[in-house]
Amino acid sequence: MPIPDHSPDPARIQADLEALVALESPTEDAARVTAAIAAVETRLAEAGAETTRIPGRDGFGDHLAATLAGGREGAPVLILCHLDTVHPVGAFGPAPVRIEGRRLIGPGSVDMKGGVALALALVRTLAADPAPRRPVRLLFTSDEEVGSPTSRALIEAEAAPASHVLVVEPAREGGGVVTGRRGVGRYVVRAHGRPSHSGLDHPAGRSAIRTLARAILEIEAMTDYTRNVALNVGTVRGGTGANVVPEHAEALVDLRIDDPADAEEFDARIRALASGDEGVTLTVEGGINRPPYRRSPGIDSLLALAREAGAPLGLALPDVHTGGGGDSSFVAAMTPVLDGLGVAGGGAHTLGEWVDLDSLAPRGALLARLTDRVARM
Ligand SMILES: [Zn+2]
Repeated sequence: MPIPDHSPDPARIQADLEALVALESPTEDAARVTAAIAAVETRLAEAGAETTRIPGRDGFGDHLAATLAGGREGAPVLILCHLDTVHPVGAFGPAPVRIEGRRLIGPGSVDMKGGVALALALVRTLAADPAPRRPVRLLFTSDEEVGSPTSRALIEAEAAPASHVLVVEPAREGGGVVTGRRGVGRYVVRAHGRPSHSGLDHPAGRSAIRTLARAILEIEAMTDYTRNVALNVGTVRGGTGANVVPEHAEALVDLRIDDPADAEEFDARIRALASGDEGVTLTVEGGINRPPYRRSPGIDSLLALAREAGAPLGLALPDVHTGGGGDSSFVAAMTPVLDGLGVAGGGAHTLGEWVDLDSLAPRGALLARLTDRVARM
């Protein structure tokens, strides 16, 4: 019997990808995300995987766990995927999927329905080769794009007993894989003052906007590129009209950090912001959402295995440290993780989001071969 080379069928991957992208699934639309989860569940069951649905809560869609049983006991290998996208329904027009040359364009195509299609191919490929390997677990979540509020605990619980975690977020520039991510904090800063008519009784007013404006300058001044720390006040709103001293104002703040110690320090500094103005209160809500994820010896050896699997496929797999947070950030401190194992393409989170169809075959084979290799160790 020939040794299987674990090369999934790219036509099948493309068919799954088109079907999944057509099922538009913005995070906020629980019913649509759950419909996309259900489409994945059907395909997994057809391929012989055991599936478990985790009902959605707090307005988010269902999550889905699956097991591809192996012939050996031991720690599972976990494949991590999400089905939600950032695009409102209809953002790409009435027909969301378009093919132009060797590009498939559509909402969530590269981030990360392409990766989900690779995961489905992996299940079929390994099911067809019942070699003794440790169990392969797959987790498909519904709320990654908003920071995984209802899936984080599940991700951590699945990753804790796992030997390795493979994440199929998009490949980076030049086919790169992700071996580090900056940490992310999110905050809402609110000022509450006292309203008055600006013409009739200006002295009685206490402007929430003025106090918030001072706080914004303080926040922006915390940015420190030498420590790779960035703070961004991304939105501001407040006030009700030009002739009213504003009672309310609020700003949304994004914090990016590299070093776990910096995360604590900057989190504390943001929380310590206070109003210096009599009659106006300032409150801060939020915190560190995803901790920084840094390379470890476990991640280094996983990267070496991925390069071994990628070399015969013509994939060099440069390693990339990225500024974006992701679900891999939750697990990197406890289990070796490699991210960016999804498809190649570009324009994630934009209306031009696309997948390079020529990447389906090699990236599919990479994921299947790496998973097989790791699960046999
Ligand atoms: Zn993603």
